[in-house]
Amino acid sequence: MIKTRFAPSPSGLLHLGNVRTALFNVLFASAHQSIFLLRIEDTDQERSGEGYITTLIKDLKWLDLAWQEGVEVGGSYSPYRQSERTQIYQSYFDQLENKKLAYPCFCSPQELKQVRKRQLASGQPPRYPGTCARLNSDEINNRQTKGIKPTLRFRVPDSSIIEFTDLVRGEQRFTAHDIGDFIIRRADSSPAFFFSNAIDDSLMEVTHVLRGEDHLTNTPRQILLLQALQLSIPQYAHIGLIIGHDGAPLSKRHGSRSIAELREEGYLPLALCNYLARLGHHFEDTSFLSLATLASQFKLENLGKAPARFDESQLIHWQREGLIHSNAEALKDWLGNDILAQIPENQYEQFIEAIRPNILFPKDTLRWITAIFDEKLNYKDESLKIITQTDSSFFTQALKAIDSCGLDFKKFITELKNTTETKGKVLFQPLRAALTGELDGPELALLFPLIGVEKIHQRLTQCLNISGK
Ligand code: GLU
Repeated sequence: MIKTRFAPSPSGLLHLGNVRTALFNVLFASAHQSIFLLRIEDTDQERSGEGYITTLIKDLKWLDLAWQEGVEVGGSYSPYRQSERTQIYQSYFDQLENKKLAYPCFCSPQELKQVRKRQLASGQPPRYPGTCARLNSDEINNRQTKGIKPTLRFRVPDSSIIEFTDLVRGEQRFTAHDIGDFIIRRADSSPAFFFSNAIDDSLMEVTHVLRGEDHLTNTPRQILLLQALQLSIPQYAHIGLIIGHDGAPLSKRHGSRSIAELREEGYLPLALCNYLARLGHHFEDTSFLSLATLASQFKLENLGKAPARFDESQLIHWQREGLIHSNAEALKDWLGNDILAQIPENQYEQFIEAIRPNILFPKDTLRWITAIFDEKLNYKDESLKIITQTDSSFFTQALKAIDSCGLDFKKFITELKNTTETKGKVLFQPLRAALTGELDGPELALLFPLIGVEKIHQRLTQCLNISGK
């Protein structure tokens, strides 16, 4: 049975990068009718915030990335918040200490900084030199009575080689010597991220860890720990990171926003998923897909090693697709009550179908609400220019045509075409300007019944008065 997981540290809002990781884990699990688990990695009490946990849960639910095990839903390996699992970690610290596989380290951050500086200056990779590795119990007691709070270091078996097959990046090989003894418990007694992370993956029977490439160097340490504790080791797949146009990791200055911000702006959840699914994973199918279909086409071998470039225009492309594929009822929630209240209820369906290709975000509808429903039109400067340049007879004929054809747009256009002997742009441009105040927009045929005979009449009369003689 496959089990994947998402294990965010709640020290900030979810962004496109971490949500993509969650999405890939969801798609992989769902492709195998398996379990996707959500665990909150909040051991760093100083940086973790309850508000971030609430928002990340809201974000995942909004995106429809459902988890079958974990916080809120429960499961056989609860609790799923690491801050509630301290005793579990303690028992593994004890095991390692008892087996002499971990030792207290009293080196101060300043001392360690000095050592690192010296190593780097002499061209060596920075690693812990083992200062506290061989302290005897008297030396340990002595330091403890001085009130120095030690960290706990894992004793890396010096000569070992750590090898594993990364499901994205292939064979990986690390030399333990280069890693050096590393901290697994901080001086404030909280576990280091990669310690509790590895223990929990194993205890919770996670089989596949799909995560960002930035965690690749943590993996050999995690494997060493799990081996030392005789715990099962999951399979790892490290996905290429998302980068900005300049090749640097995606950040605010590349236009990256939090999921909460994107939701506020009016991005559709499935549009984001369609975009993110393709950022670092190749799908043959380039159409707008449901989560279930994305899952059925998701393959680990289609995950890319290379970093994926964030492209705002692609995101917009999927937003447009998302709008085309949303039903009118679903778009009501998306528009929100304030906007909805400005659209006559009995014309909602017709309105949304007409303007759907011309909007990307809820606020874009305001322009069309004004253009269609307002009693008094605000003509754009360029529209006014067209109207004043148009011969008044055009509007006289248009008024006659609306009187005789009513809302039959086809008939209306044919009549106007014949009586004014115009066609194409010369026919449609002044008409659109007169009826909507705009020079572009939804199909006139669709707007016609929405504006209604009375307002069309009124608008044409107004244009007759300002048009060229
Ligand atoms: N809590 C870690 C993070 O948010 C999890 C990393 C992992 O997926 O293993 O970066």
